[in-house]
Amino acid sequence: MFKPEKLIFDGKRIDGRTLDQLRPIKIEVDFLKRADGSCYLEMGKNRVVAAVYGPREAYPRHIQDPTKAVIRYRYNMAPFSVEERKRPGPDRRSVEISKVSKEAFEAVIMKELFPRSVIDIFVEVLQADAGSRTACINAASVALVDAGIPMKGMLTSVAVAKVDGVLVLDPMKEEDNFGEADIPFAFLIRGDRIESIALLQMDGRMTKEEIKEAIKLAKKGAMEIYQMQREAIMKKFLEEGENG
Ligand code: UDP
Repeated sequence: MFKPEKLIFDGKRIDGRTLDQLRPIKIEVDFLKRADGSCYLEMGKNRVVAAVYGPREAYPRHIQDPTKAVIRYRYNMAPFSVEERKRPGPDRRSVEISKVSKEAFEAVIMKELFPRSVIDIFVEVLQADAGSRTACINAASVALVDAGIPMKGMLTSVAVAKVDGVLVLDPMKEEDNFGEADIPFAFLIRGDRIESIALLQMDGRMTKEEIKEAIKLAKKGAMEIYQMQREAIMKKFLEEGENG
């Protein structure tokens, strides 16, 4: 990838966005008919699909938990989703993303309601352009609602990066590659309020002040994404109502 001389020019980013602007987002609920819940989501050039199965009885039995449902989350990148072909199958990065995303969902899914069951969340990246883990979490959250899984709220995810010494919301590939730092967040949002941070990772360095600013910026972006998640879900249920 070619390195631009500057990532910020006259307060604008190389794709024309302001510092606090998200990439365009598109959400389609119930994208796959075989899954219990599903979602197709675009966040800039990211294209991802989430499929949820369950709650269903967990097999083999030794994975069952008599007190709550087991949550499984699998993040996978298609070999054609990136510039240089990605070798198929799990790697360190996808195992890490699956682990932290699963832990974030464990904090919001009311898993105590479904002892001995498993809830499977699969996310597939068809095209990646930085922030694919955040796009996948946003899609998975909508797919869980579509599957009717009870949750304490929505999980909404966005990253903030530091590029050319300033903070930017929802970095794309060039900013992710050539920036100084990058923090993906996921928030638990309930009733239009951010309740808690369910995921926070950090790549690079920021000062304490910058991290505080980054949290503020991420919260603003997350509230905007949350509204889009809600609208997409409402649209689907309204259409279902109209079609009987
Ligand atoms: N990427 C890639 N090949 C890989 C992994 C990642 O080209 O094997 C690209 C892809 O565009 C991805 C970006 O690098 O979105 C940033 O990756 P990162 O690990 O930061 O995760 P993400 O930002 O996608 O959650």
